[in-house]
Amino acid sequence: MFDLDKLTRKNIKALQPYSSAREEFKGRADVYLDANENSTGSVLNGYNRYPDPLQKKLKEKIGAIKGIGADRIFLGNGSDECIDLLFRCFGEPGTDNAIICPPTYGMYEVSANINAIGVRKVPLTTGFDLDEAAILSAVDEHTKFIWICSPNNPTGNTMNTAVVERLLQTFDGLVIVDEAYIDFSGKQGWLPALGKYGNLVVLQTSSKAWGLAGLRLGMAFASPAIVGILNKVKPPYNVNDATQELVLRALANMEDAAARIDTIISERGSLEKKLSQLDIVEHIYPSAANFLLVKVKQASTLYKKLLGAGIVVRDRSREQNCENCLRITVGTKQENEKLIQTIQQYQGEFL
Ligand SMILES: *Cc1c(COP(=O)(O)O)cnc(C)c1O
Repeated sequence: MFDLDKLTRKNIKALQPYSSAREEFKGRADVYLDANENSTGSVLNGYNRYPDPLQKKLKEKIGAIKGIGADRIFLGNGSDECIDLLFRCFGEPGTDNAIICPPTYGMYEVSANINAIGVRKVPLTTGFDLDEAAILSAVDEHTKFIWICSPNNPTGNTMNTAVVERLLQTFDGLVIVDEAYIDFSGKQGWLPALGKYGNLVVLQTSSKAWGLAGLRLGMAFASPAIVGILNKVKPPYNVNDATQELVLRALANMEDAAARIDTIISERGSLEKKLSQLDIVEHIYPSAANFLLVKVKQASTLYKKLLGAGIVVRDRSREQNCENCLRITVGTKQENEKLIQTIQQYQGEFL
């Protein structure tokens, strides 16, 4: 059964974390001479003070939006920081391993490699769903993580709920469900299951549906115990003040985000329809995200033609079961039209 104490690395359990000035004194004062900041200010007329290390205001706002207690929220400098911290807190370098299910987001493997965590690849089925039996047989006594991306990048589909649920019930390491694209899926996702499963970690991000990729804010939702361990290991001021302030401002207007999500979902439908009418397109995978995985004739040639026309898409042809597949982000109406026109112009050359 799941035992967080057993899962956590010994050095992390023993770690006496760095105590920052902003953590040691939490009250309000008139004069702050405790952190060697520049008391005269800055040319920006602000930002001379260190940010809140635990991002309390932001967590309260996010908690209210997501319907979850602030004590179950960890914030990182992008999801990528959350991924790295999970490996560092719970994976013993050189000993432990993680299961990933390709084709999927590349950072799980890169981050595992950086942290000397073994990577066990259990490919998704040809329908891009989880292969439950293969995952279970890949688990050994050093398997600490199962990484699940749902909706998955680059395939766009969500993963079978019953399989994820059984993995949560039977696997005694962490099941991490990366929901970077959940707001485009129309599905609720795994946040409501957090109270039930102590081994569940849900990752989300401000980079996609909220449109704030440049600010770098990733979210990990988990038990208060897991959040406490991540907080102990993170750099003290990992989420900067401008980001905390700007994201808070953005989240005061959730109607704007909701409208953008609706626009993207509707554009996704139109783009899919127009692409499906092109002779060069062989298959479009159903998408619950803000991109489409599109199988074409001669992906790498088309990719270069598009580049020549100033349009960048992602060539995913070398990923498992993605031969001749391009991953195309849903753009604005105008951008999508330009894409379609450009493909129409060139497709005769391939047919
Ligand atoms: C885009 C994306 C993220 C977001 O990463 P950030 O570091 O938060 O920008 C996370 N996971 C997946 C699967 C993604 O595609």
